[in-house]
Amino acid sequence: MRLSRYFMPILKENPKEAEIVSHRLMLRAGMIRQQSQGIYSWLPLGKRVLDKVNAIIREEQNRAGAIELSMPTLQSAELWQESGRYDAYGKEMLRIKDRQERPMLYGPTNEEMVTDIFRSSVKSYKDLPLNLYHIQLKFRDEIRPRFGTMRSREFMMKDAYSFDLTREGAEHSYNKMFAAYLRTFDRLGLRAIPMRADTGPIGGNLSHEFIILADTGESEVFCHKDFVGFDIPGENTDFDSVEGLKAIFDKWTSLYAATSEMHDEAAFNVVPEGERLSARGIEVGHIFYFGTKYSEPMGAKVQGPDGKEHFVHMGSYGIGPTRLVPAIIEASHDDNGIIWPASVAPFDVVVINMKAGDQACDDTCELIYAALTKAGKDVLYDDTDDRAGTKFATADLIGVPVQIIAGPRAVANGEVEVKDRKTGARETMTIEAAINRFVA
Ligand code: ATP
Ligand code: MG
Repeated sequence: MRLSRYFMPILKENPKEAEIVSHRLMLRAGMIRQQSQGIYSWLPLGKRVLDKVNAIIREEQNRAGAIELSMPTLQSAELWQESGRYDAYGKEMLRIKDRQERPMLYGPTNEEMVTDIFRSSVKSYKDLPLNLYHIQLKFRDEIRPRFGTMRSREFMMKDAYSFDLTREGAEHSYNKMFAAYLRTFDRLGLRAIPMRADTGPIGGNLSHEFIILADTGESEVFCHKDFVGFDIPGENTDFDSVEGLKAIFDKWTSLYAATSEMHDEAAFNVVPEGERLSARGIEVGHIFYFGTKYSEPMGAKVQGPDGKEHFVHMGSYGIGPTRLVPAIIEASHDDNGIIWPASVAPFDVVVINMKAGDQACDDTCELIYAALTKAGKDVLYDDTDDRAGTKFATADLIGVPVQIIAGPRAVANGEVEVKDRKTGARETMTIEAAINRFVA
């Protein structure tokens, strides 16, 4: 991508409305724009990051055996009357009427709709287990939308829903998502700790929130320090192994970890003082097992091996991609801007032409840009005629992991500078060596 032809509206000044660093940096880097309170456009740079986050979420959901579909944002109120949640949900639900005066709503979550899909076509235990997910916009009319996309009214959610014949089966489905979440957050460069959680309006009796420790987090959390160093389940995890996944779940729930709603001071005080961590955190994921809470009122049942009909045991599993992007920034930035983990960086590398219009600099940059693009890298080429200082500031602000800097003096020697955004380390090398670093 040539910066001269891209759309990346950088802000020079710090926006006054932003209270936390991720919100400030997302606005300054031109990643998002608020359209009305708590409702955002994702501008091209932000969209790239969001897409990469979603791709990782999707890969790990698929690995764990979940199947992707797509459900609509608008739902009929009738479904919610069946489960009894239409009245219970309260003011967070945006209720709308269509031209025939039929009551509709903008979905805050999808338990009812997915249960309807399930009951319309699954009739036998032989089709279980089943886990269906989508990545879709939700709307919740939050009383205090704030911190940019961290807590917005319209936001994206990956929500998965599992169906099993028995409670034991449902626990295995829960453990699959538990392990998939550990892997997902790790690949996003985050350390998320599962904590016993309250189930809220989703209902049910087994639930964990995945929390990232951050000073700007809205939740108060208490946990054992050792979680910070625990091993993440590997790529070769066998998601069909009931014992294997149970062992992962047991290990990750063996030590104290709770949000303030579930906090038990006496139990926490049993943890040796030096190993206690009380901090603030950001909830990035939440998983629930809720048995037959929806399947019973909505009549979602299958024929079991005993020939009888059974209401299915369900769970639901949410991750917030539009909250994860700012959460990653909270965890990874410095005074100059964002520092993206390579896995979600909007570009792999930025090529900075320090003297656009200078033949040797232009030729060198074009050569590198073409070679890296051909090698399948996402390259941003700063071909604008801004001053070098402005270009450096922009490259640091948008946090691309590697910068290749071509200035007249180095280029005259057939060389460029390669800068690591995270460490700030700069290395001078031949043009060929700079290219080979990515191609090899
Ligand atoms: P919170 O306690 O932060 O209000 P919640 O418990 O209501 O969230 P869930 O119903 O558990 O949210 O939703 C699953 C995930 O969706 C959350 O873990 C979070 O990542 C994301 N999410 C929920 N509400 C918002 C929001 N207003 N803005 C952005 N992401 C959200
Ligand atoms: Mg929650």
